[in-house]
Amino acid sequence: MTFLEYAPAPESKAILKLKPEYGLFIDGKFISGHGKPFQTISPSTEDPIATISCANEQDVDVAVSAARRSYEHIWSRLNGAVRGKYLFRIARLIQERSRELAVAESWDNGKPIKESRDVDIPLVAAWFFYYAGWADKLDYAGLGADPQPFGVAAQVIPWNFPLLMLAWKIAPALAAGNTVVLKPAETTPLTALLFAEILEQADMPPGVVNIITGAGETGRLLVNHPDVNKVAFTGSTAVGREIARAVSGTHKKLTLELGGKGANIVFEDAPIDQAVEGIVNGIFFNQGHVCCAGSRLIVQESIHDDLIERLKSRLSTLRLGDPLDKNTDIGAINSPAQLERIKALSSAGEVEGATRWSADCVMPAKGFWFPPTIFTNVSTSHSVARDEIFGPVLSVLTFRTPAEAIAKANNTPYGLSAGIWTDKGSRILAVADELRAGVVWANTFNRFDPSSPFGGYKESGYGREGGRHGLLAYLKSGAPATFKRSEKQVPTSASPVKAIRRSRMTKRVV
Ligand code: NAD
Repeated sequence: MTFLEYAPAPESKAILKLKPEYGLFIDGKFISGHGKPFQTISPSTEDPIATISCANEQDVDVAVSAARRSYEHIWSRLNGAVRGKYLFRIARLIQERSRELAVAESWDNGKPIKESRDVDIPLVAAWFFYYAGWADKLDYAGLGADPQPFGVAAQVIPWNFPLLMLAWKIAPALAAGNTVVLKPAETTPLTALLFAEILEQADMPPGVVNIITGAGETGRLLVNHPDVNKVAFTGSTAVGREIARAVSGTHKKLTLELGGKGANIVFEDAPIDQAVEGIVNGIFFNQGHVCCAGSRLIVQESIHDDLIERLKSRLSTLRLGDPLDKNTDIGAINSPAQLERIKALSSAGEVEGATRWSADCVMPAKGFWFPPTIFTNVSTSHSVARDEIFGPVLSVLTFRTPAEAIAKANNTPYGLSAGIWTDKGSRILAVADELRAGVVWANTFNRFDPSSPFGGYKESGYGREGGRHGLLAYLKSGAPATFKRSEKQVPTSASPVKAIRRSRMTKRVV
């Protein structure tokens, strides 16, 4: 087979006007932190990008106090339409600065520019637009009339979708009337700091959103601060467990979005070439640094060999390299620590007896890289079938009957996502009903929309982000809803039994 050669098409970094150093964004101003500053580096070249402040206990306290003041004196006193206006402004500014944000994200995180440009940043804007629309409609959120915010939200996010995870957290919190202290991950703080500049541009009142940078210790100080009312965490299950322990017994509300080991089930009647694209998108999108990645392919035995052949041939065409090149499909692994974890778990897969195949990619000399890899001959007890690798590694299991596919898909401590590939709509519905996963995609994978709730079962966490459900995570119930006289449901039938039955049916449909 001959492949077309692609000329390099790097996106220019000239659009970025970065500062050499970034402080903490507290009370509407950038200030220096009192912890030890650190460097954020490009994972594809290992070059430093900027020096970042680190927030210590005193800084965390100052940030939470700013958020509290702003909550009591400004944000909670604004009506929903005004809060919505600020969120619309932010959304439009994100659109205006989208190219710059995409370049910064790919440079700092290592993800291909075509993903940050076409997926991450458009979704960030969509999230703010969506929740801007909710800000003046909270009475219709299903929590009764005039539901109330919690107060100050402490939010901690990971490095895999830095700006998108920020949007998932900040947009619903602000729409609901809370103020925020957010900590981005230590390896990807850049776009959160550019977002702070966007807040300045949007004339956001000081203290409504505070961005503090630092590593795990800063996150721990933030979630343990006695004056936060709500903790929202996205990250690993291990840290999520620690936070759940720390928060239990306090007045704080908690939502956890944690790890996953998603099953992508392919039946023999599936459109095979489409399924191959879906499998590639399911696990190799964002180098597999995706909590809901389809990292376990569960394929019907009769099509296993054909599917794996086609998959290997497709993976051999993926271009690995410079994240800022518009042709790149697979970017850099985000950090040396993550690369070590992927290598260690992959070696364990081989030692346990699974068969490893990696695409024959040319690895750049500098930076952190791992080729797209497939493990076949995997059994459910292998660590590559159980542990979240969070890298471009796919584990393949087989099944003969739908019941076996469902049992294998559910045989995991996680429960975040799953995919089903089949020609039959009835099979999709029947199998989806049995899968213990927060999101189930049918004949597609890794699709996100702000109106659609996202979240997990079991060790994948609790609470939902996105949609009306995502708003509920930041609101407490208001007064019970009362019908206006004209809205009351008046039975039209003389029979009370029929009227009751009709009202029950209405409830079920709603
Ligand atoms: P991580 O848990 O190591 O870190 C996440 C964030 O928590 C970082 O900002 C980190 O500094 C902070 N942190 C670390 N220790 C802390 C502590 N003790 N207290 C408070 N904060 C602390 O996870 P990671 O390696 O950055 O991200 C990868 C994980 O995130 C994967 O497991 C992935 O599945 C998960 N994730 C889940 C979702 C989801 O929506 N379910 C989305 C993205 C990522």
